[in-house]
Amino acid sequence: MKINELQLSQVNNQIERLIAADNFYGKKLKEAGITGVKTVEEFEALPFSEKQDLRDAYPLGLMAVPEEEVVRIHSSSGTTGTPVIIPYTAKDVDDWGEMFKRCYEFAGITNKDRIHITPGYGLWTAGIGFQNGAEKLGAMVIPMGPGNTNKQLQMMMDMGSTVLCATSSYALLLAEEIEKRGIKDQIHLKKGVIGSERWGEKMRKRISTELGIELYDIYGLTEIYGPGIGINCKYDTGMHIWDDYIYLEIIDPITGKNVPDGEFGEIVITTLVKEGAPLIRYRTHDISRIIPGECPCGSKYPRIDVIQGRSDDMMKIKGVNVFPKQIEEILASFPELSSEYQIRISHLDGRDTMRIYVETNGHVDFLEIAGRIAETVKSKIGFTPLVKVVELGVLPRSEKKSKRVIDERYE
Ligand code: ZN
Repeated sequence: MKINELQLSQVNNQIERLIAADNFYGKKLKEAGITGVKTVEEFEALPFSEKQDLRDAYPLGLMAVPEEEVVRIHSSSGTTGTPVIIPYTAKDVDDWGEMFKRCYEFAGITNKDRIHITPGYGLWTAGIGFQNGAEKLGAMVIPMGPGNTNKQLQMMMDMGSTVLCATSSYALLLAEEIEKRGIKDQIHLKKGVIGSERWGEKMRKRISTELGIELYDIYGLTEIYGPGIGINCKYDTGMHIWDDYIYLEIIDPITGKNVPDGEFGEIVITTLVKEGAPLIRYRTHDISRIIPGECPCGSKYPRIDVIQGRSDDMMKIKGVNVFPKQIEEILASFPELSSEYQIRISHLDGRDTMRIYVETNGHVDFLEIAGRIAETVKSKIGFTPLVKVVELGVLPRSEKKSKRVIDERYE
């Protein structure tokens, strides 16, 4: 997949606009001697932008239009350091709503649906993004926000919610509560739109089976509008990406070069029509790949695979590079285990060690299964972890992004 003529001219417009605005990013382009972009080669030679650049522009250095055109800001939920502020014009808000509406449509959701929104409202882009798209679609929005599981379930029953929007860990928590309370026959959910988190096939199956719903993965990040820049269709062969609004590349995170379609690498995104804060070749650090070929649904929108993790999640244990996803896949091959797990990395006596906590029920020999998991990790990845087996329900469930990997070396 290469950038096409129309997209190139759109990027060229974005560059010209940034330089004219003389904002933080426009200055950087000028310093690099860039005035525009005409060819694929020129595009692929443009410098990347990084989250740190966006932080350096705090608070409003990214603003690329006169202030009277800005109608809203959002901020990324930076857990450490300076947050990132993204200004939006009315058109940006509208474009984002159109993209999100398209996501719902690809999931077969209509204006007859009742959309139950549990992601948070506020500075970040989650709740309000789901809401804008749903209102554009003409569906009935139930804007719950996170937390208060009792009230969530009561409203879900009383309002007859048909679509659940949630993080995967909160969807799982709700599924388990519904099961525990024996109220499944009073729940009318048909579909789940699940965002903002990397999740395994096993967890997905569990949510889908326990709630009896079809699941759709939504992609997006605050720096680039928010959630809603792509979603899988009913054929579930990857997430379609709206390439009339954004251009997406996959690069080798080390060399910075584009990788061939089908190969995994880091997602890099360029906005094509954004006004408030255009970004050129923004490194997301999310790992995925372009899925080659055409989707059975016939849509021409390109597809990317499920997010495999973060390029900075890569761990080095006893000299071996490991992605949490690799451990997750091994755990998923043990039917005795639940979908919950926790990975802890620590530095003891001059060596890095990995401890893996998994859950199972009391009918399994804990020591025996721990031994088999350790052996499998050794044979498939190349080092031996410490495996600790606990009773079902012991590992923490969270309403926010699950913290499954805890690196104690830097705490
Ligand atoms: Zn499709």
